Amino acid sequence: MKKKFVFILSIALILFIQIGAKQIQAKSTNIEESIVKLRILETTDIHSYLLDYNYEKRKKTIEYGFNRVASMILQAKREQRNTLLFDVGDVIKGSPLAEYVASSPMFYSNDIHPAYKSMNLLGYDAATVGNHEFNYGLDFLVNTLMGADFPYTNANIYVDDRNDYEQDDIHFFQPYLLLDKEVVNENGKIEKIKVGVIGLITPITQVWDKEHFENKLIIKNMRKTAEEIVPQMKIEGADLIIALVHAGLYSDQDYRPKSGNNVRDISRVEGIDVILYGHSHGVFPVKGEKGPKGVNHEKGLINGIPSVQAGNWGNHLGIIDLTLQKKKEKWLIKDSKSTAKPIIRIIKKKKIPIVSPLPQIEYILSRYQQETMEYMNSKQLLNHLD
Ligand SMILES: [Zn+2]
Repeated sequence: MKKKFVFILSIALILFIQIGAKQIQAKSTNIEESIVKLRILETTDIHSYLLDYNYEKRKKTIEYGFNRVASMILQAKREQRNTLLFDVGDVIKGSPLAEYVASSPMFYSNDIHPAYKSMNLLGYDAATVGNHEFNYGLDFLVNTLMGADFPYTNANIYVDDRNDYEQDDIHFFQPYLLLDKEVVNENGKIEKIKVGVIGLITPITQVWDKEHFENKLIIKNMRKTAEEIVPQMKIEGADLIIALVHAGLYSDQDYRPKSGNNVRDISRVEGIDVILYGHSHGVFPVKGEKGPKGVNHEKGLINGIPSVQAGNWGNHLGIIDLTLQKKKEKWLIKDSKSTAKPIIRIIKKKKIPIVSPLPQIEYILSRYQQETMEYMNSKQLLNHLD
């Protein structure tokens, strides 16, 4: 009897020690801050160059094409398990294929724009509009965007209510998004991050596309709008705020006021953590390039904010690799690295492709491409007759 008691006691003691050890371990993992690697991907200014095709020379190219950068997106997603993918606008206007689609009445009924048929394959998390989205009018734009299986956001385009009272102004798009992102931390544990996404566009759009804006829509100052909206996103629990900015590093020429309408101004808005931008068809960061003040090409920072610009026509993929650290329930950016990755490499002055085109896109687009070529031929014929 006594032996049995000792035996039970010792088992209990062992269990107690084990449970105690587990508790201490649990406590220590709680204290240990969670580290998450998050990769943010950007495309911008695709301009419906969906295929690696040079319409001017009427032959294939290795230098651009959404079907090529699409392969790079899939590769970048395979390399890092936590990723987000965004587009920063100017999708539906630019290439002859875009012209053909816009001239074709079937798109007002039920077809999906080939740009979205292609982009929907990649699993975009969100996008914002560019100035060229407005070129074919609002009806075409709204109908086209319905084909995207990811949300669009823009904060500084408002419905023109023709009064100066600002309190009742209504946004034309969803001004911001809050995406609940599940990520896996460095210890293999699932964490949740609320990613806030705000879209902004250069106000010169309303001058360039006056015909489609007048008495319908107005565009307000980018920085002023962001300063109003970002605090609201914070109140609603955004852990990380990404700005999708369809404007260059500098404000567009001929637009007044210049202040508040460029990427450098947005980088100074309190609460914005990451900037993905487009519009000027540039690339940021550029290896070996210096300045101007506040612009760090080495790390890809603009006034300390991780930023990227991915060229145009699918010739680059924007990549921002963030290392996030959770401290007292808050996520902080511990480190970042931005890269605008080109789809070709130049070796001894020879251009070498880094990726092959994604075959699914070519397959989906073959009919549209064929019809575009016919459309181009007929247009040429008409021009000739003129
Ligand atoms: Zn643009």
